[in-house]
Amino acid sequence: MSLERSKFAIVTDAVIVGAGPIGLFQVFELGLLGLRAEVIDSLPQIGGQCTELYPDKPIYDIPAIPVCTARELIERLAEQIRPFSAGLHLGQEVTEVKPRADRRFDVATSRGLRFDTGAVIIAGGVGSFQPRRLALANAERYEGESLHYRVKDPSQFAGKDLVILGGGDSALDWTLTLVEKARSVVLIHRRSEFRAAPASVQRMLALRDAGRLDFIEGQVQSLVEQDGALRGLRVATRDGITRAVDLDQLLVFWGLHPKLGPIAQWGLELHRRTVAVSTASFQTSVPGIFAVGDINDYPGKKKLILSGFHEAALAAFGAREHLAPGEKVHLQYTTTSPLLQRRLGVSAQPSEVVAPARDSVRRA
Ligand code: FAD
Repeated sequence: MSLERSKFAIVTDAVIVGAGPIGLFQVFELGLLGLRAEVIDSLPQIGGQCTELYPDKPIYDIPAIPVCTARELIERLAEQIRPFSAGLHLGQEVTEVKPRADRRFDVATSRGLRFDTGAVIIAGGVGSFQPRRLALANAERYEGESLHYRVKDPSQFAGKDLVILGGGDSALDWTLTLVEKARSVVLIHRRSEFRAAPASVQRMLALRDAGRLDFIEGQVQSLVEQDGALRGLRVATRDGITRAVDLDQLLVFWGLHPKLGPIAQWGLELHRRTVAVSTASFQTSVPGIFAVGDINDYPGKKKLILSGFHEAALAAFGAREHLAPGEKVHLQYTTTSPLLQRRLGVSAQPSEVVAPARDSVRRA
């Protein structure tokens, strides 16, 4: 089944919502069955919780990998799915999934991409990660202009007076990067302990001591506005003084929190903040929409990467059945199947004949 690009939508076999470990492995399982996938994630990088929450922590319970960091796991998965050339669309949320009369789906993202897909596989984890926002009067008004939760183009901050809020890796990394471009940088964090890498903290303190940037330990109280523009912040410092800090641009890195978000609007049966599935194929209450990984719920569910991998395998067979109802699918082994090896790009065999391999086990 092939992918074409129509004038209006990307036509594909499956859209995968979420590029966490399970969404990535889903590409592999679909690929083995000859199905093309497009993967979408609201984060700017792949890996879901592994990359966002614990990239350098070791994982010990992936079969046959005694230990690897979460980042390494994602790198290995990315390498494993490379033969299938899935489309990857990052930094955008899947906002709409609409079933059509012809059993296919119209899918749309927050950046206006459109897909015409045969199946949808939700691998949305604990939901789409959203930045923790500044809960101050009028803050929303300045979002994207003088208030930012992500840096898309660092050059827009050249020659400006910047205030950066936060004490994690993003806040420190951007402080150290933007101090080279900005006219001035003030980092504000509510305490003197940081969650960022110690080396970054050391560098920031050294730059402060050298007079290259300012660090204020305090809590933001309110915005300073003038003629409809954001001009500064009022900050309650640790010594009980309220200081006004001038700025051109404000960057807030207070971390991300998960939100089920638009998935809740797609007409699926939900169990609290998860999607109900049948364990035969991990199909949801809507035929053709599947849910795998942390996002789903069924009796005995365990939120483990291992469980998600199994779910992805069965969801791929389910998606295949939805795309071609009643068509027999022979379970084949990657070890022995010329067809699977061709799909994996490890065989020189030219033809695409789908003859059931003599040594394949026919279960489906
Ligand atoms: P996630 O990793 O959550 O990825 C889901 C992705 O979907 C996210 O990137 C999100 O942005 C995206 N998304 C959601 N909604 C949308 C939308 N509408 N549009 C676009 N994108 C969307 N598990 C283990 O098995 N072993 C361990 O040792 C282990 N250690 C852990 C340690 C920590 C600190 C944590 C927090 C978790 C750990 N886990 C571990 C759990 C494991 O990380 C999760 O089970 C796994 O990440 C689930 O993968 P997933 O792909 O289902 O979801």
